[in-house]
Amino acid sequence: MEILKTPQKALKYSKSLNGSIGFVPTMGALHPGHLELIKKARDENDFVIVSIFVNPTQFLPGEDLDKYPRRLESDFEICKRAGVDGVFTPNPKNIYSEDEILLKAPKIKGYILEGFFRPGHFDGVLQVVNKLFNIIKPTRAYFGKKDAQQLYLIKQMIKNFFFDIEIVEIETVRGKDGLALSSRNIYLSEKNRKKALTISKSLKKAAKMSIHINDIENIKKEMIKILEVDKLQYIAFVDRDFNYIDKIIPGNTIILIAAYVGKTRLIDNIWI
Ligand code: AMP
Repeated sequence: MEILKTPQKALKYSKSLNGSIGFVPTMGALHPGHLELIKKARDENDFVIVSIFVNPTQFLPGEDLDKYPRRLESDFEICKRAGVDGVFTPNPKNIYSEDEILLKAPKIKGYILEGFFRPGHFDGVLQVVNKLFNIIKPTRAYFGKKDAQQLYLIKQMIKNFFFDIEIVEIETVRGKDGLALSSRNIYLSEKNRKKALTISKSLKKAAKMSIHINDIENIKKEMIKILEVDKLQYIAFVDRDFNYIDKIIPGNTIILIAAYVGKTRLIDNIWI
């Protein structure tokens, strides 16, 4: 497995590959959720490249950039075992320059929900994914439905910038108890993990209710009854293009939650 530490090395490496490239961008501290993306990429491509980069520009001041879990050596082991060909782990200094050209997330869909509570977050995500796509030049890139709004915006960037890359969407991987896997779950104490579980429970309840009723207010009331989080930021109902909806549309609805449990901010969603 090649460890590629600079954009120049990664560019040269990806250029040298003769075949399709599956690319999995991550921030590391790899868990079985990431592994599903890697497995799918392995199945569908001649070569697999994973990036591990805790991207500073997508963190807002006061967020957990410095605290974000970094486990490079064990991540390398996980990648090796999963049959990854190349791991790209650049240094921020090699990715960003001073006073550079900036990318802006769309005014509406980049600034609602996650973008409202983390203004500028998606500017940073799109900035770095754009760079990564240009360096790796993948045939296919793999993203999780867990970050549904990010996935939507990346698909929009593909269209708006005419990237010739296929985006592959992967179902959210959950623990046995239903909690969506996230690198940030390690911040949760046992007590807070129990509280966090009410997020997936309430989404499951919403999915069940939506089989029979399409009244969002009713569903929301039941979700709030189940939730035992410390601070609920939003429960939202949108269609697959992130337009707000006022009734459940079977086959075209995403229900999303963002909440704090203790100091840990968690997001989850369910696709109806
Ligand atoms: P991250 O390292 O958190 O930036 O995530 C890297 C990629 O893995 C993103 O496309 C995420 O949506 C995806 N991902 C993270 N957690 C999960 C999960 N539990 N199930 C499926 N995909 C996930």
